[in-house]
Amino acid sequence: MKYSILLKNANVISHDGKISSGKYIYIKDDKIDKICTSYTDNATIEIDCSSYFITPGLVNLHAHSPMNIFKGIAEDVTVDDWFNKEIWPYESKILSDDIYYGALLSMMEMMDNGITAFADHYFDAKMICKAALHTGIKVDIAPTLFGLADTFDEQLENVSKQIIDTNGKYKKINIRMGPHSPYTCNDKQLMKIIDRANELKVGMHLHVSETKEQVENSLKTYGKTPFELLESIGAFKIPTIIAHGLWIQDDDIKHINENVTMAVCTKTYMKLACGYGNIWNYYKTLPLAIGTDGAASSNTVDCIEQARLFALVGKFMNNNPEAYSLTDIWKIMMKGHEALNFNSGKIEEGYCADIIIWNLDDINTAPIYNPLSAIMYSSSSKNVHHLIINGNFVKKNGQLCIDKEIIIKEAKERARDILNRGKGKTKLVF
Ligand SMILES: [Zn+2]
Repeated sequence: MKYSILLKNANVISHDGKISSGKYIYIKDDKIDKICTSYTDNATIEIDCSSYFITPGLVNLHAHSPMNIFKGIAEDVTVDDWFNKEIWPYESKILSDDIYYGALLSMMEMMDNGITAFADHYFDAKMICKAALHTGIKVDIAPTLFGLADTFDEQLENVSKQIIDTNGKYKKINIRMGPHSPYTCNDKQLMKIIDRANELKVGMHLHVSETKEQVENSLKTYGKTPFELLESIGAFKIPTIIAHGLWIQDDDIKHINENVTMAVCTKTYMKLACGYGNIWNYYKTLPLAIGTDGAASSNTVDCIEQARLFALVGKFMNNNPEAYSLTDIWKIMMKGHEALNFNSGKIEEGYCADIIIWNLDDINTAPIYNPLSAIMYSSSSKNVHHLIINGNFVKKNGQLCIDKEIIIKEAKERARDILNRGKGKTKLVF
């Protein structure tokens, strides 16, 4: 159902952290139609926003949404054991329904936290599309391609077909290439993927330099860091989302251009003890955005929490409380919009109406001296009062507009089934 919505007397926090008051925002169909200082026409729904703050929706630029089904299954293990002894053996027996309900859980949690769009990385894009259509969230899916499997060419054909069948058909779903990483796809396979991405005019999304060992191994195999390898085969000539890049080297920085956006997922790095990589040293120059990674490693899909941890780790490790300022972090928070093709990320006329209406008059956030501080350091999902995606409410008066209980019940049944099935064999090695 479509509404016209008038947000009256709103306090707006822009994508670059500037605050203004007394705005009338008129939303028609899926777009912000008009912004002015008074408005007399009637709208289907009118909301007095004088006590609320309005921001663009949040973007989660790196997720594995179906992995919410594995939340909490592998705790207190090393990163090697997390992949090799836990997650990949369980994933080898995963079923379509596990993927569907895991994705639904994740999407609900994201919307609860104010996320209006996300970049996903997982196999079985069909199930993720189905879940996205059910929830109303925007998704840019990179179906995972593993080069170690002997079915690589077949996988590439399938993904190409999905791109042709899907892109342009839905307003809220795009598909791009998703090689898992340069350590699970070799240089020749990556080149094939980039060629195909060029033909289909799409970008790609892959994991790069998440650990120090990956950089060392790449230097042994290719005499190049993962970033140097990617640059040498043309990866940065197409729109590329880099998950992590935590261990980017000083000499890699020169290869980063306007096609690249990097999704930082601090909670995962802390939990799996991936170390203090170079991204913090270059946070003002690198094109950083916020990701959550999968809930199997990060346990939540909450961009504010991830951004908060990024700032706190940066301040703590550099012994510098003046660095990683609220405006710096807010800009990083908003950067993800630029990497996705959804015409979102600004409270301006002509942009899609992907909007959070924050209620900061609550125990955890009041009093409000600085709304950015309230959001970045004090808020939780309960402060996301309304969430609008493409002009539709997906959360209203603090409640998600979805069959939440049914999805949670189904997900719990899938989880019981996963434990009964147990772990299988995996060909992959981290
Ligand atoms: Zn990941």
